[in-house]
Amino acid sequence: MKQKRFLLSEAEIPQQWYNIQVDLPHPLQPMLNPQTREPLSVDDLAHIFPRECCVQELDHEHRWIDIPEEVLDKYRSYRATPLVRAYDLEAALGTPAHIYFKNESVNPLGSHKINSALPQCFYAKQEGTTNVTTETGAGQWGAALSYAASVFGLSAAVYQVKISMQQKPYRSSIMRTFGAAVTGSPSMSTRAGKDIITRDPMHSGSLGTAISEAVELATTTPNCKYTLGSVLSHVSLHQTIIGLEAEKQMAMAGEEPDMVIACFGGGSNFGGVAFPFMRHVLKDGKKIEFIAAEPEACPKLTKGRFEYDFGDEAGYTPLLPMFTLGHQFKPSNIHAGGLRYHGAGMIVSQLLKEGLMHGVDIPQRETFEAALIFARTEGIIPAPESSHAIAATIREALKCKETGEEKVILFNLSGHGLIDMTAYEQYLNGDI
Ligand SMILES: *Cc1c(COP(=O)(O)O)cnc(C)c1O
Repeated sequence: MKQKRFLLSEAEIPQQWYNIQVDLPHPLQPMLNPQTREPLSVDDLAHIFPRECCVQELDHEHRWIDIPEEVLDKYRSYRATPLVRAYDLEAALGTPAHIYFKNESVNPLGSHKINSALPQCFYAKQEGTTNVTTETGAGQWGAALSYAASVFGLSAAVYQVKISMQQKPYRSSIMRTFGAAVTGSPSMSTRAGKDIITRDPMHSGSLGTAISEAVELATTTPNCKYTLGSVLSHVSLHQTIIGLEAEKQMAMAGEEPDMVIACFGGGSNFGGVAFPFMRHVLKDGKKIEFIAAEPEACPKLTKGRFEYDFGDEAGYTPLLPMFTLGHQFKPSNIHAGGLRYHGAGMIVSQLLKEGLMHGVDIPQRETFEAALIFARTEGIIPAPESSHAIAATIREALKCKETGEEKVILFNLSGHGLIDMTAYEQYLNGDI
């Protein structure tokens, strides 16, 4: 009998995250204060983010970071997630490749984002914060943060891009169900929002406007911290739970991946699944190919430039050394809202520069074709973001079919698409 799902018991869930910063061939270039161009310290960042997250952000000394017991306790309500061998997908493609996926869609929030929302809210609570705030585009991060805030007894205020609030009404209902206050951005509740609306009363909002409002709220409200769902190094640190589990599960399957693939917005689910495997490349000279799949409409890895750039459209954040399309780049309104970010996280940018991974960019139509093949074989409707990883996996599996190579491919299924059915409807109606 062929084993399909590889499961870990609660006791086998990793108890530490892996900090790849310790093993990088060259240290990261620092984040800079845009006015002084001085490197930022923990104290500088701790005005905005929970202090422990800032410590982790700049930590290049501790390879393993203990997961707090309170966070592990919450992880245990949905982890470990299954590793699945996609036999039916392999058969449909007629490929000799062995395809495995790590299923991060099987928690009630529906994506990997909860893995970092929980520790960020825990650390905020531990240091006496009462309120957290953030921005969200499509709403996956906002939903995860709203739930995590309610778990740790914090009040959450989420600025959601006004246009996506109208396009995806259920996500704001999800956030409000968890007790969050959701405001469409730009709004009249902040100075930044008022300025934007005064200049352009019809502004439909962007991640840039929402970040500006959330940061302003955090810095002007006592006991309020700002949280971010991707891009920063501490976020991908928290996500390494994915790859650390997958490593144990691949060992149960008796295989090691030749390729690790994930979709790419700011890099957190990619880093989460890839970094634990990459440590064997960096330390033990193993050969593994790492592929980050981004949309053709927002190709910072394949067409961006490595330079210092702002994290937001308005230019309020520190300067980050990263592959970027420019902080004022406006991607077209593709359905994979979580991949419409102009820059790449600092660690991933460095790895790309050093040739330890590469990006592929994929047209939207191909991602929906891949999603349908996956849905019809494996029975899971993937998030439009995750479909980019599936499309890249299918490309590689079809190459194996031509060459006859029996490669082992592992991809991360970052989330399900059950709240994105309008996007599927448009594709099925021939409107994409
Ligand atoms: C947010 C999101 C992404 C993209 O973010 P990363 O930080 O690059 O992982 C991918 N998939 C899903 C389902 C998301 O919600």
